[in-house]
Amino acid sequence: MPTIFHKIIRREIPADIVFEDEHVIAFRDIAPQAPVHVLFVPKDTYATLNDVPADRPEVVGRLAVAAARYAREQGFGEDGYRIVVNCNGDGGQTVFQLHLHLLAGAPLGRFGVAAG
Ligand code: 5GP
Repeated sequence: MPTIFHKIIRREIPADIVFEDEHVIAFRDIAPQAPVHVLFVPKDTYATLNDVPADRPEVVGRLAVAAARYAREQGFGEDGYRIVVNCNGDGGQTVFQLHLHLLAGAPLGRFGVAAG
């Protein structure tokens, strides 16, 4: 089932693309949750993090390395940034094509809910 992100990969809908290579595309989130909010998406289809096979760790590694490189290039390496992968309902996932959020540009505070 193609998602909105597949349509962005195929250039069927516009996006503010900041990085692309053979395996990964990255574009600005349409509803940013930080001054910099970029989504890193594999070009191969994986609905969630659960769907990445154990013998394909490079799928996730490529997203993380691309995000870290972009963050460093944009000058956030020293101040810091956050990467997040939401998975399924409790994780807050709304688009079912694997993606990694890069959030940067301000102190991001804590996240999650209190345990217990
Ligand atoms: P999730 O909640 O699945 O982890 O994250 C999905 C993200 O995709 C959300 O932060 C949402 O704002 C973003 N998003 C949803 N639709 C679009 C779109 O059409 N274009 C862009 N650039 N981002 C989108």
